Amino acid sequence: MVSKLEKEALAFVKKKEGTKPSTRKIISLHNRSLKVGYRNINIQVVTPSIIKDNTNEYGEYFPHRHSIEIQTAQKPLDEVNTILHELLHVVIMDIGETQKGGLLADDETEEKFVYNVANYLTQVFRDNKWLLTYMQNKFNE
Ligand SMILES: [Zn+2]
Repeated sequence: MVSKLEKEALAFVKKKEGTKPSTRKIISLHNRSLKVGYRNINIQVVTPSIIKDNTNEYGEYFPHRHSIEIQTAQKPLDEVNTILHELLHVVIMDIGETQKGGLLADDETEEKFVYNVANYLTQVFRDNKWLLTYMQNKFNE
């Protein structure tokens, strides 16, 4: 017969063995900045405002403030998708395609393009993690 104390000890050991120390470095987006073009884009992870609560927006790029706001408490994959999405807004605005005559001058066309590309890139990076490691290694060579 196993005593209650022995059961607890076994459960403790089993739990300990099951938890390997993580070697992953957790990087938060909050207060980070992205170097894009000639300036830094500051990232703030924010609690949704009352106005934004009823929308499906998980992030927003503010070109004049050089900042991106990311809604807090998203699922990890959604947060990745959101930062890629907002980064794409930054890039296509920087290259001038959102200006009059640009391929993405129409707001709906821009949003559709950014939405689809961000979704695809998120999926490709998630399903081919080796590619991110490969790129990091190549950047450091
Ligand atoms: Zn967007």
